[in-house]
Parts: sequence; C-alpha cells; structure tokens
Amino acid sequence: MKEQRVCVLGSTGSIGVNTLDVIARHPDTLSVYALSAHSRIEQLAAQAAATGAKVVIVPTDQARSRFRNAWPGSLPLPEIRVGAQALADTAADPQVTTVMAAIVGAAGLPSALAAARAGKRVLLANKEALVAAGGLFMRTVRESGAELLPIDSEHNAIFQCMPQSGGAHAPATPAKGVRRLLLTASGGPFRSTALDQLPDVTPDQACAHPNWSMGRKISVDSATMLNKGLEVIEAHWLFAMPVNQIQVVVHPQSMVHSMVEYEDGSILAQLGQPDMRTPIAYGLGFPERIASGVGLLALTALGRLDFEEPDFARFPCLRLSFDALETGQAACVALNAANEIAVDCFLKQQIRYTEIARVIEACLDRMAGLPATSLDSLDEVLALDAHSRHIASELCLLKA
Ligand code: NAD
Ligand code: MG
Repeated sequence: MKEQRVCVLGSTGSIGVNTLDVIARHPDTLSVYALSAHSRIEQLAAQAAATGAKVVIVPTDQARSRFRNAWPGSLPLPEIRVGAQALADTAADPQVTTVMAAIVGAAGLPSALAAARAGKRVLLANKEALVAAGGLFMRTVRESGAELLPIDSEHNAIFQCMPQSGGAHAPATPAKGVRRLLLTASGGPFRSTALDQLPDVTPDQACAHPNWSMGRKISVDSATMLNKGLEVIEAHWLFAMPVNQIQVVVHPQSMVHSMVEYEDGSILAQLGQPDMRTPIAYGLGFPERIASGVGLLALTALGRLDFEEPDFARFPCLRLSFDALETGQAACVALNAANEIAVDCFLKQQIRYTEIARVIEACLDRMAGLPATSLDSLDEVLALDAHSRHIASELCLLKA
C-alpha cells in the first residue's frame, strides 16, 4: 500500500471513529494529517493527541478555546483552523493525499467537492453530497483525475463487484455487460411494526438499528428507508446507472451488502459482517486488501439469507426518492434538504416519525412550482438547498 496522509472530516462521528481505528492498524503507511469535529471538541482533542494530527478544524472561535483547554499540556498543540472554509481548504491542502468525507448532511458537500477538485483520493461516506450535487461532483472527479472510492457499504460492495478495468475513476457511462444494480436494505427497526404504531415511535426506537451502529441522522434515515432512497440516487451517479436499472431488495440479515447483475445471468455479491471498517479499509488500501479488524463471517452459523420486495406503502420515503431522481436534480436537492430538517425536528421531538415523509412530500410539491435552474455550480446547489430548508422548516412548524 502506498503511503498516505489522511484528512478525516467528521472524525468524531461513527465513520470517523472507525476510520481512525483502521488507520491505527497500519502505522507504517497511514498517518493522520488533519481531523475535524463540529460539536464534540473534547473528543477531537483526545483523537488529535492519540494520532499526532498536525491540523484540527473546529467550527467557531469558542470551539478553538475549548480545544485549547482540553489539550494535554505536555504535547505540541496542533494548528487549529476555524470555520467551514477551513474544511474545504484543508481537504485541498497539498500535505493531504487522502480525504475521508464523513461529515453528515449537505454540510459536507463543499469540503468533499474541494477534495475532488484538488485531485485527492476521496473516500466518500457523505452520500448527501452526491444526492445534492451528483452531476457536479462526478464531473469534478473526472476533470481533476481524483480517485473516488465509495464508502457507503452498498456502493463499496457494488464497486467491488464491478468489472475492475477502470480503477477508482468516475464513469460517465454504465459499465459494459452490467444489467442491474441490486441494492440491499435491512428494512430497519420498523420492518414489521404494526402500521398504526408508527406515529408513536420515539427517536431512540428509530435509532436502534437491528444490524448497524451509526450516527443518529442516518439511523432515522434507515428506519424510514429514505436512506435507501438516497443510496439509489448515490448509485445512479457513482455508476452512471439509469434509475430503472437499480433495484432495492430487502435483506434483513445485512450480510450481502449489495450485488451486480450481468447480462449473462451472473449475479456477483459482496458479503461480510455489518462493520464499516471493511469498506473503509478497502478504500484506504485500494487496490490492495488490508487488515480492518473485522472478524470473518461465519456462514454456517448464519444458516440462511432472506430477500423480500420493499414495501412502498410502509416506506413512503423510498417512493419519494425514486420520484425525485426521475424528476431531476432540483428535486433531489429538495428531498435531501427537507429530510435533514424533518429528521432534526423528529430527533428533537417536534414532529412525529410519520410526519417526516409528509414534510418531504409537501416540500417537494412546493418546490415543483419553481423555475428550473441549471445547478452547474456549488453556489446554485447551496442556494436551492437553503431555500428548501426554509420551506421544510415552515412545514415542520405546521406539521405538514
Ligand atoms: P455522525 O453523526 O456519527 O458523525 C457526523 C460527523 O460530522 C461528526 O464528526 C460531526 O462533528 C460532523 N458534523 C456534523 N455536522 C457538521 C457540520 N455542520 N459541519 C461540519 N461537521 C459536522 O454521522 P455518521 O454516521 O458517521 O455518518 C457520516 C456520513 O457517512 C453521513 O453522510 C452518513 O450518511 C454516511 N454513512 C454513514 C454510515 C455509518 O455506518 N455510520 C454508513 C454509510 C454512510
Ligand atoms: Mg449504506
């Protein structure tokens, strides 16, 4: 494996922590150059001290003071950079070879795009960046010659099952011989909950995923299956695949992480434990395979693998996502933004679980009346994102 100096954006999150775990297993080749956090500043200080990070990025001057106060006096203080622009600048820093884009939400888009523009190896966990700006992002990767490694487990699985002729590039056309992408979904914690109980589910129930341990926002997205919808859009962009060639298959065990179906009738699947260190290690080591700390999958103990059709009536967010992808880029921006607002309100117990889908649908309806914009630039995407958030916030107050 070639030597890499890694910038982990969102290092205090679930993906960030798993990334540092994998990096620590390869001290000869992998080192941490920069880390960022938004709220858990004391955890960031502990991470920076443990990894010897040269740079940390925090959101405010107040967070900078908190970082200083939490810093162990015996060690040299890392450079502390402040603000959203510092995230993008550090992603493009000449000292950095590899960027883990693991900030949650569209807030991670500018820094992920900056990493792509600077031609880095980009390990993309932040799916919202592709949902909001897939065309722009993939074009940027192609033009800069960046290496793009999908970290979302389904897309990492598909990447592993694709013909590997092109390396970690950003294809503009579907791979030859591929008929369909089969995205697996666990169905989340409410796959068989009585429908009349759904309005009363609590944030903690929604965040209790049966198979994966993740941040709270993506956990709620998994419960509503909006996460799978975002992943359909993500797969469309990553693999240049038309929407009618992407199928969602519910697979409650979460051992088959996704599949690629070929013209000759073959289906290739990638299996493994539901542990994000596998796709992270794949992205860091590519094209080599490196140790991740993940145990082997005991197939005989598992015994069976089940597959079911997704239930669009139980999971209206999945249908809304397919509709948005067919409608176009602006609808995808609105879908993502409205979801971020609605999930945040649900986590703060301001709206009910079942109101998340209603807020998204109402926001998409309102946005449908707006004149189409080209969305060729980051500024245009961010302006539409902000407008959608404004509408979604109003709808949450009205409870859609
Ligand atoms: P998390 O909530 O655990 O962590 C989010 C990180 O982003 C934290 O470090 C936080 O400080 C930072 N952050 C939050 N808001 C920010 C802002 N406005 N500006 C800058 N930084 C901010 O989330 P996670 O579960 O690690 O997920 C991160 C991303 O990876 C998401 O886009 C998610 O969809 C994707 N992803 C996660 C998993 C998983 O297993 N957790 C799997 C696939 C994809
Ligand atoms: Mg996923």
